[in-house]
Amino acid sequence: MMKMTVLASGSKGNSTVVSTGRTRLLVDAGLSCRELMKRMRFAGEEPESLTAVLITHEHLDHINGLSVLARKLNIPVYFTEATHRAWVRMMMPRTTMTYSKWLETVQAGKQAAKQAKEQAKEQAKQQSQAEASKEEASGPADEDLTEASLEPSLHADDGEPSREEQPTQLQPEPKRANPPDPAYLPVVEYFRSGGGFCIGDIAITPFTTPHDAADPVGFVFEAEGIRMAIATDLGYMPPNVRLAVRRCDVLMIESNHDLEMLRDGPYPWSVKQRVLSRVGHLSNDATAEFLSGEYDGCASYVILAHLSESNNLPELARVTAEQALQGRMNLLANRVLLARQDQPLEPICL
Ligand SMILES: [Zn+2]
Ligand SMILES: [Zn+2]
Repeated sequence: MMKMTVLASGSKGNSTVVSTGRTRLLVDAGLSCRELMKRMRFAGEEPESLTAVLITHEHLDHINGLSVLARKLNIPVYFTEATHRAWVRMMMPRTTMTYSKWLETVQAGKQAAKQAKEQAKEQAKQQSQAEASKEEASGPADEDLTEASLEPSLHADDGEPSREEQPTQLQPEPKRANPPDPAYLPVVEYFRSGGGFCIGDIAITPFTTPHDAADPVGFVFEAEGIRMAIATDLGYMPPNVRLAVRRCDVLMIESNHDLEMLRDGPYPWSVKQRVLSRVGHLSNDATAEFLSGEYDGCASYVILAHLSESNNLPELARVTAEQALQGRMNLLANRVLLARQDQPLEPICL
């Protein structure tokens, strides 16, 4: 038996479990770790039995809970190398990214303070010597007075902590001296788009998607003769994606926005342009064009996913897809489901 459970889908977080009796994979981790684990349990998928996490691309709605989850469960994360690099860059906040530089600055500051202190000490010494010789010239030296005139430099050296040793804002705190790596993951595995690989008894074929990320992919999962595809976050349906999702029993496909709603909706013009672009998101119409055309009609379930909350209505997406599928929907084929943002979808078992 092969099972797919969409835990969440949409711009606020994406995550789906694909499993067999032996292997349990999480595709994307776009909710917080806590929420992911809660939804997995709710859907009857024990988080502790997860085999691995696979990442489609580094956008926040796909990786939000990734590091915490992978560390907590101590499981491997599969990326393409470019996506992993992009993710690492995202995980390094500016201050931490320039940590070595920052450390250099601190060291240079310390050095300068040390030099200034030594200069001051030298000056004090010279001054006291000058005063001593003056004393000598004017009369017998007073030991105590000489001692007193030397005091400032002695104090600077051995007494109170000098300025450089006092904690300042730049001083690393004990923890910061050895900062935990924000991009640490227990195990990282790389795959290549187009190159198939296996995790447990599930065969995985990643395929490139046209989207504005470092190296975005979709996946086809295959086990026990069942095939399930996930194809979201893509600006259009290029030939390689059309080919990849052939003969699938479950087709999870993006139906992001209604064109008119997006056009008249609240997004700024630049964001509208991004969504509409060839590396943005699939509209209801683009999905319908594929479903009514090249789509082979093989899937038992067509899951419409990554629906925009601002620029789409679930019923609009459903009607558009069902019209495109025309007479091809029945109890065994092409049942249209709508993936949700706020709660998991009923598991699909085949
Ligand atoms: Zn994306
Ligand atoms: Zn997304």
